[in-house]
Amino acid sequence: MLYLAESKRVIIVGIPGVGKTTVVSKVVEILKAKNISVSVSIFGTVMFDEAKKTKGIQNRDDLRKLTVKEQKDLQSMAARKIASITDEAVIVDTHAFISTKEGFYPGLPHNVLEILMPDSFIMITARPEEIYNRRMKDTTRNRDIVSIDAIKKELDVTSAMLSTCSILCGSPIKMVLNTEGKIEEAAKGIVSAMGFNNGTNHSF
Ligand code: ATP
Ligand code: MG
Repeated sequence: MLYLAESKRVIIVGIPGVGKTTVVSKVVEILKAKNISVSVSIFGTVMFDEAKKTKGIQNRDDLRKLTVKEQKDLQSMAARKIASITDEAVIVDTHAFISTKEGFYPGLPHNVLEILMPDSFIMITARPEEIYNRRMKDTTRNRDIVSIDAIKKELDVTSAMLSTCSILCGSPIKMVLNTEGKIEEAAKGIVSAMGFNNGTNHSF
């Protein structure tokens, strides 16, 4: 029977500075070498592109300073844009929550999940000390600098938020450790969770 190949949709979350964007670019390299068409959407960047047009925001890291209502509208718009992508692998790089003045706001509220309908979730994690150092060293971004204890709390909030996402979607969560200097190892863990580890895209 002939049928159209469906996209494998994966949402990758992790706290700022854990290494999502770095590891995901490695995942893309691996998938492209296997001739798998892949797209990566950095959720915050898709939101930022819209915010630039409609809200006059100049810096990606100012998004989290908008009101929750404004962030909510931008989120739905970004989700619809991403949902229309039809590559074999559709990767979304995002945060399970955003620290706002009102408190921890979900990066993946129910309405966004309903639009994205992911097959699986990946949580990228690392030792809190490593995350702290990565934030300090990376001068390309305006990340909030917080204590190691606050980073531990952020990791806890991420897993709590992600458990709910998993239950709502009926999609599994894989935790991937991004050890210092082991970007490729972390990337391979993701490729395997996506079911692309056997050199074909028919293994899932
Ligand atoms: P954000 O959520 O803020 O976008 P992120 O999770 O995408 O953050 P990255 O920008 O990928 O994080 O990485 C943060 C910094 O950590 C970068 O300077 C990157 O080079 C470094 N880094 C990431 N992973 C590793 C690793 N395994 N070993 C060493 N350095 C790493
Ligand atoms: Mg990033």
